[in-house]
Formats: sequence, structure tokens, C-alpha cells
Amino acid sequence: MRDSASVTEILLDLIAIPSVSSASNQAVIDYARQWLKPSQWDVRTFPYTDLNAVEKVNLIAAPSRLLQDGLPGEASASPVGSSVARRSREDDIPSVELALVCHTDTVPYPADWPEAVHPKVINGRIYGRGACDVKGFLACILATVGDLDVSEQSLAVVLTADEEIGCVGAKRLLAEKPLRVRHAVVGEPTGLHPVVAGKGYALGEVVVRGKAAHSAFPQAGRSAILDAATLIDSIRKIGLRAATERHERFEPPFTTLNIGTISGGTAKNIVPAECRFLVEWRPVPGQNEHWIADLICEELARAQREDPGLQATFEPIRIDPGFETDPQSKLVGELEGLSGNAAVAVAFGTEAPYLKKLGAETVVFGPGDMKTAHSVEENVVIEELERCVQVLKRLAYSLAK
Ligand SMILES: [Zn+2]
Repeated sequence: MRDSASVTEILLDLIAIPSVSSASNQAVIDYARQWLKPSQWDVRTFPYTDLNAVEKVNLIAAPSRLLQDGLPGEASASPVGSSVARRSREDDIPSVELALVCHTDTVPYPADWPEAVHPKVINGRIYGRGACDVKGFLACILATVGDLDVSEQSLAVVLTADEEIGCVGAKRLLAEKPLRVRHAVVGEPTGLHPVVAGKGYALGEVVVRGKAAHSAFPQAGRSAILDAATLIDSIRKIGLRAATERHERFEPPFTTLNIGTISGGTAKNIVPAECRFLVEWRPVPGQNEHWIADLICEELARAQREDPGLQATFEPIRIDPGFETDPQSKLVGELEGLSGNAAVAVAFGTEAPYLKKLGAETVVFGPGDMKTAHSVEENVVIEELERCVQVLKRLAYSLAK
């Protein structure tokens, strides 16, 4: 059990523990547990095996007094694999006033960037993978709870796996309905600005099937690429329609649409038999996140009615909603006051929509700049880390009562 360390020391430790989403996050979870004193915290883990048979772990910790023995998941003392009784009634789900939420995985890093997991401190900044996305905030949580007496607090720490590959851990944890949360702070690099709205993220694939033929005799086949071109133009028009439904908090103030990749055909002199392309959209909150998918399906059906020879399918791969929190809410007001920064909206996806489903008023908040995340320049300003710890400590006293 660790007693105390500066937030900088904790972050240097965390960056040195690789936790790319393809690998297990167990070591980060084990490290975090060292800061959750067993005398104060009841720690529950929610292990699962991912699609590649890698062990992943979500974690929830709350003051022992709040959980008694009712939270699902594996208790600290129980051996891995033991089963714990599930609560049978909704009313029995424990609730907390404030949850500090953070993902434990990072995006990959290139082999020629050894500092990714050997962090460097240069000019008051810490460089390394996860410095701002989002081990910086995790270090702030651990520095906060390491010092805090939580015997009177209604506070939870929620750590998730697999955020960077589609909020997989958060979705699984939500399905367990482990606790109810009144206010949640979800860590992401926001430069310590409280983020009160975020666009969602959605992706789907269109596959167009044609018929191969010698290109000297195109009538003998059907070009999947030309059919794809027709469909792409229709999808472009769906994008124009989406742009008319405005949400002024964002820039740009509407659901954006992108066709990011396309592939098809086998040779310059063969009529292509197949063409596929990816359609991505970022739905503004308040709009049905399935709306664009529905419009694409309608468009495919219409095109096929007009031209029965056209064969195309659309498969959604991922549809995550956006989120929006009332800027007048207590949590937003507190965070604006404590950070000195006004609330903003962001265009990147986060776990916030899932936390909202636990009943939470959710704000995304944390040190660092998302523009350096996912790059070899990833860094965080140490002074921002320290300010974040102060904000979280005060927030724990003002909200977690
Ligand atoms: Zn992140």
C-alpha cells in the first residue's frame, strides 16, 4: 500500500506501465489499487475476456460504508473467479454523489518512440504515451484519493478498460448496473475546461456488389465502383441535410459525415465486381444517433427500387450517442468556479454518454490538450496536473457529501 507521492511521480509510474488497448490493463488496475486504502475503500473488480481472449478489468471503488456487501463484482479479498451475489432489486443499487471516472488503456505508439513508456520531463511537461490521454487524469485521481479521508464522503472511483477501441469496458460495466451516480467527472484532456457536451461517434460500411467482365465489354458485367459513386453522391446529400439540423454549441454546429476509405476493383481492365466504403458520422446530442444510418438504409432501398440490378448493403459497425449536460447544473458550476475556466463543447467521443445512463450529470474534464494525444508529442503540463488535483480535492468536499 502506497502512502503518498506527488502527482508527477504517480504519472511517471503509470506511463511506464504499458496499457495499449490490445494488451491487458491488469497492471494499471493493480497499480491504482495501491492508492485505495483497504481501511477506507471497498474495491470491486469486473474482469472480462476481450474478443482476442485478453483479460481486461473494470474497477469500482467506494468508501466501505457505502457499499456494505451489495455491489456486484469481485471483492478485494475474494480470489479471482469467485462469484458474488447480484442485487436482485433496482432499489438496492448503491448510489454515490460523485464518481471520478477514467479509462486505463491507451492508443498504440510507434516502435521508434521509446520514450512512449520511458517518460521524460522537459520544461515542466511530462512526455509519454498516455501523458494526457488519460493517465494524467488517472494520476490526479490517485493523488486525490491517496490523501483524502473518505469516511464521510459519497465518492466513487470508476476505472474502465478498452475506451480507445469503442468504450467497450464502460459499456460492459453499465450492463452490470453496479451503482447509481449523481455527478460524474470523466477524465479526458480538456485543458481543465469543464466539457458539458460532446458529439457521438458512428461508423458503418457500405458494400456494393457488381459483376466482373472484360472492360472492353462492360455490358457483360456491372461496375460496383460506378454504383458506389451513385450511392456516395446520395450520401453526400444526406450530409448536406444533416448540416441543416443545427446545434449551436458545436463547431461545426451539426452532425458531420465522412467517407474515410474506399476500396474496390482488381485491375484497370476488369469491370469491378465489388466496392466497399466506410461512412463515419458524429451525431450531435439530442439527435437520434441512428438517424443517419436510417437515412442511408432508405437511400439504398430507394436506389434499388429505381434500379433493381444495383446490389448494396449497409452494416453499422458502431453507433455511440453524444452527451449534453445542463450548463446550469451544480457540477458544472462547481467545476467552472474551481478551475476558473468556462464550460465548453468538444467534437471528440468520450465515455460520458454511458455514464449518463447510470443517472449521472456528467462533465468531461482533465489536464492536457487533446491535440497532442495519440501523437508522439503527447504531453501534459505538470502545473496543470497539480491544479487538477486541487480541483478534485475541493470537488470531493463540496459535492461528495
Ligand atoms: Zn481518452
